[in-house]
Amino acid sequence: MKNADLLKIAKTFGDPVYVYDSEKITSQFNRLTNAFGNVKQLRLNYAAKALSNLTILKLMNSLGSGLDTVSIQEVNLGLMAGFKPESIIFTPNGVSLEEIEEAAALGVQINIDNLSILEQFGNKHPDIPVCVRINPHVMAGGNSNISVGHIDSKFGISIHQIPHLLRIVALTKMNINGIHMHTGSDILDIEILFETAKNFKKLDFIDFGSGFKVPYKEGDIETNVEEFGKKLGKRFNEFCEEYGKDLTLSFEPGKYLVSEAGHFLAKVNVVKQTTSTVFASVDTGFNHLIRPMLYGANHSIMNISNPTGRERYYSVVGYICETDTFGNNRRINEISEGDILCFKNAGAYCFTMASNYNSRFRPPEVLWHKGKAHLIRERETFDDLIRNQVDVKDLFTPEKQKATMK
Ligand SMILES: *Cc1c(COP(=O)(O)O)cnc(C)c1O
Repeated sequence: MKNADLLKIAKTFGDPVYVYDSEKITSQFNRLTNAFGNVKQLRLNYAAKALSNLTILKLMNSLGSGLDTVSIQEVNLGLMAGFKPESIIFTPNGVSLEEIEEAAALGVQINIDNLSILEQFGNKHPDIPVCVRINPHVMAGGNSNISVGHIDSKFGISIHQIPHLLRIVALTKMNINGIHMHTGSDILDIEILFETAKNFKKLDFIDFGSGFKVPYKEGDIETNVEEFGKKLGKRFNEFCEEYGKDLTLSFEPGKYLVSEAGHFLAKVNVVKQTTSTVFASVDTGFNHLIRPMLYGANHSIMNISNPTGRERYYSVVGYICETDTFGNNRRINEISEGDILCFKNAGAYCFTMASNYNSRFRPPEVLWHKGKAHLIRERETFDDLIRNQVDVKDLFTPEKQKATMK
């Protein structure tokens, strides 16, 4: 997207505003699909939690993506966006048996990540096929010191509990149709998952989760999906031959598909020179973009109002009444009050993590599609802020006054 397009969007829809470029989402989806061109059956299930606007979900559906969901609400958003139930996988962590049953009743693929729920679900619904989430944390054989999943990670069923898992499957007569792992794209983990897969005779798919890296700043690692795809695809095909069946290879990318497509635009309210720093304060904060404060994420910041101006050092900070720094000592083209700054990589885990802290409205979302800007979520209003608050009458009215009111 060009700076001029972004500036026009800020002008039309106000600021701050999230902007998503459909072309970038599409090209990322196609790039990942092509990287696994040597695999007969590939399934990409977009991880809805990265960016869950209905229009984005519809775009993913139109591209041929499936959907990875982590709550019954995301399942319902997916259905609303037009995904078929069988194109949705439900991969929650720590949710109730009731929520899993609700999703199963809707016909979505269930993925269970603990033995307690697996046993309960298998006892009640032995006919519903289930995928199991494995945590491969400790390297088998001790021949490697590369450890990915923490030993105390809350995710997945420990690889050491496979015997127990198999006993539950045998006793309940449930059917395991998929196995899943979400720890990163390390080829060593992959061998562990293949090894585990051999324990299950009726698999339809193997799901390798996500872990595709995209660059946020210069020098960041980007997963070479072509190289990874070639290597894993070849190994996967060999495994299918060994297994005696053409399985589906699945992934659940979130960040990879939407991160770089997102731009977050905010206006500079104040340029403040202190004894040590020049602050640029923008009309947003961690209420709208929490990743820098929560994860130390480094989002590049551009001054799109003055892209050729002299570069100077700034600390870009928000308007929240506590420290909310977007970036320290950033080299940015000279900033004047009123300029529009653009935060890059604002597609994944940005709007979906926004809140109303400081009683601010959540920003609008705009989709840039085929050279046109479409509003896909309106800015909140004061009514949205108070919508669910209950005004209990006379709660603090003194009794005496109540009597005279009668
Ligand atoms: C969040 C999540 C993903 C997506 O991860 P990204 O890093 O955004 O690609 C995939 N699978 C599961 C189970 C997740 O919880």
